[in-house]
Amino acid sequence: MKFSVASFLRSIRLDDSDPDKQPSYEGKDPRLQEVPCCATCHSRPAAKLLMCCSRCKTAWYCSKECQTADYESSHKSLCVSIARTLKQVQQRTVPLRSTIIDVFLEPQNFFESQVGLFGQFYQAQEYMTARRHLVELYVQAANIVETKSVWEKALSHALELMRLDYRDVIETRYVIPFILLNLNRDDDAFDFIRYWMKIDLNDRSKLFDLMNRHFESREGEWIYPRNQNCRFRDVFEECANVNDRKAPLAFLVALLIIKCRIVATYDATCGSMDLAFGTTSGQRIQEVQSTVKELILDGALVNIQSQRQQVERLLNVIQRRNAIILPAFLNPTPLLAKKWQNAPNEALLVLLHGTGCFVRVPGAKAMLEERFGKEPSYNLG
Ligand SMILES: [Zn+2]
Ligand SMILES: [Zn+2]
Repeated sequence: MKFSVASFLRSIRLDDSDPDKQPSYEGKDPRLQEVPCCATCHSRPAAKLLMCCSRCKTAWYCSKECQTADYESSHKSLCVSIARTLKQVQQRTVPLRSTIIDVFLEPQNFFESQVGLFGQFYQAQEYMTARRHLVELYVQAANIVETKSVWEKALSHALELMRLDYRDVIETRYVIPFILLNLNRDDDAFDFIRYWMKIDLNDRSKLFDLMNRHFESREGEWIYPRNQNCRFRDVFEECANVNDRKAPLAFLVALLIIKCRIVATYDATCGSMDLAFGTTSGQRIQEVQSTVKELILDGALVNIQSQRQQVERLLNVIQRRNAIILPAFLNPTPLLAKKWQNAPNEALLVLLHGTGCFVRVPGAKAMLEERFGKEPSYNLG
């Protein structure tokens, strides 16, 4: 996979992301926008007045001047890459609609006859690689424009890759939780991770059902279990293998972000309520304060003690598994500066996809600084 650390760094824009200055917090990434703004001057005229880049459809402008300025200074390379990769995907779709896999059979349309099994055919490899690259490009673009529709483009291509290949040989699953978290779909992220933590692809007794679910699904469909409010559940009970040496770091970090968001929401709500009650001197109101808090925060659902413990335990597991990731959230430069020979390592991928979400949770950076100091060093081996 082609990969550029520099462009990713540019897109995450860590500089202006101090969540502790946000007035209130509701567990959601405040930077996600439903309606785009001009990528150059950040003005937000009525949506109709913004022009969308016709080539990549991931950037909006209020005027021709703003478009030209952005194109020359930064948009060009990403725009060209997206257009080129989209074309590649389209081109590589064509042969898959009529592929001969057996000389005695008619040519097959893979998108009808092999849904779920793409990973088993060398004929589908180039198509999947191109589409996987497209996901990364849309993630980069979404980090820049912070617009919902661009995150959704990344998500739809990623989910489609998963649907076409039930084994996910191309490993799209490690990106999906972070895309969902950027879309503030924490329950879906939790469901997705739990599904992949529990699944055993070598369990033949379940294989038929699994393949069937993929085969009978339709494009764009969410094919994983879905439970409302599941994000509050105890990850150490739901996925007993969290402590496993093989538990994917991407999943652990995504779970950490989910739990940190819950704790930060609780603390922010309590904080603003203390403020509200503090201004009222009535004895009666003081008496009902804790009851009101419980009602608003739903104590049974949240169980804040347990949530804090889960954060603590996840931090310990992640640090034990990989001593780079958590310090690198505070001090990414050494990790990013290293020249990677082939594919970048697991810590780097997690850092690139997870940092944006993580650092924007109020208190998350402070929590790490308490553990590791302001600018911790780490051993890159
Ligand atoms: Zn503008
Ligand atoms: Zn463009």
